[in-house]
Amino acid sequence: MNIHEYQAKELLEKYGVSVPKGIPAMSVEEAVKAAETMADSTLYVVKAQIHAGGRGAGHFKNDPNGKGGVRLCKTVDEVREAATAMMGNTLVTIQTGAEGKDVQRLYVTDGVDIDKEYYCSVVLDRNTSRVSFMVSTEGGMDIEEVAENHPEKITHASIDPVTGMMPHHARTLAFALGLDGAAMKSAVKFFMSLYKAFVELDAAIVEINPLIVTDKNEVMALDAKMNFDENALFRQKAVAEMRDESEEDENEREATNWGLSYVSMDGNIGCMVNGAGLAMATMDIIKLYGGEPANFLDVGGGATAERVTAAFKIILSDKNVQGILVNIFGGIMKCDVIAEGVIAAAKEVDLSVPLVVRLEGTNVEQGKKLMAESGLPIISADDLEDAAKKVVEATQDAQKAA
Ligand code: ADP
Ligand code: MG
Repeated sequence: MNIHEYQAKELLEKYGVSVPKGIPAMSVEEAVKAAETMADSTLYVVKAQIHAGGRGAGHFKNDPNGKGGVRLCKTVDEVREAATAMMGNTLVTIQTGAEGKDVQRLYVTDGVDIDKEYYCSVVLDRNTSRVSFMVSTEGGMDIEEVAENHPEKITHASIDPVTGMMPHHARTLAFALGLDGAAMKSAVKFFMSLYKAFVELDAAIVEINPLIVTDKNEVMALDAKMNFDENALFRQKAVAEMRDESEEDENEREATNWGLSYVSMDGNIGCMVNGAGLAMATMDIIKLYGGEPANFLDVGGGATAERVTAAFKIILSDKNVQGILVNIFGGIMKCDVIAEGVIAAAKEVDLSVPLVVRLEGTNVEQGKKLMAESGLPIISADDLEDAAKKVVEATQDAQKAA
């Protein structure tokens, strides 16, 4: 689960991570009030709050050549102007895709005198099963590009969970950024606090881009992106309450409500599978036969008729879907029960795209018989290879016909 920048900063600040002063605003008036409250500021920054980065370099749909979603303002009037330009409008950045994201929340923060911008992120590294820090002198830039062309400019520190983060780890990172004196001291405190926040909040990713050193040699998080392990949200109530459903993919949210694992993708073949391993194998084999999966959908072990129907509706609400492959292994669930669910769902949603079904496992013969006798144009497949070939072919035919 992702949260907004202002929420991440609120959490991090509690752990002693230094951030510029700031106040969230849900309307233009609130933004103006926030600026008035920060009376001793000489520079304000109005920042659009969306779950995507690249806001500064982005643009608003209604003003393609205008400024982006991070604006420096000298006066309260300029804050009003910036807030008016952003609130309720659609911000397009390199991370939002062409459709952009609607801005419903703003963050008014103190403008900071930046000496230099750096990059810092913390992730759970699955290879080492450790929390891993990554810093770079190339702040404010696209870190993927740095990793690709200048890997020597990135320094890692892997933290042993038994000892936790030690001051020497923090010094290594600060040293890699070329910091010394007061800035080094400030950086050590910063990294130690960041680690504590990461672990105690069950974070999965924290990205501070840019991390800055101010003209007073203080290290600060100027931007903050946090992502959390959803399996731990039950014990992170404060974090769970920060969820902003309007930022999430509607289908993914609906799937979560049904206990389905759903991830939407770019292709046109909808997949309904039970088990994550089988889902991945199914997507692989679709690609092998020249198709592109439209989603990853795992209905799990207890695929009841209701859940199968919900899954069908979710798949079909994706306008790109031109064919569906159901690939289910009847273990705990019997194939005839699954077939009944598929038939009921296909009837209820008034299926208009080709449907290929491959069942295997307990009562597979009864399941196939039910589908054959259903009167629905279900294409039955015998094994995974057969199923993949058939769905790719049927989808291509449907595409040509359309
Ligand atoms: P994004 O990554 O979405 O573009 P950032 O928060 O990183 O948004 O802001 C982009 C740039 O705007 C920063 O790299 C920094 O140069 C400038 N900036 C952001 N916040 C402040 C601030 N409080 N004071 C001064 N400059 C800022
Ligand atoms: Mg940033």
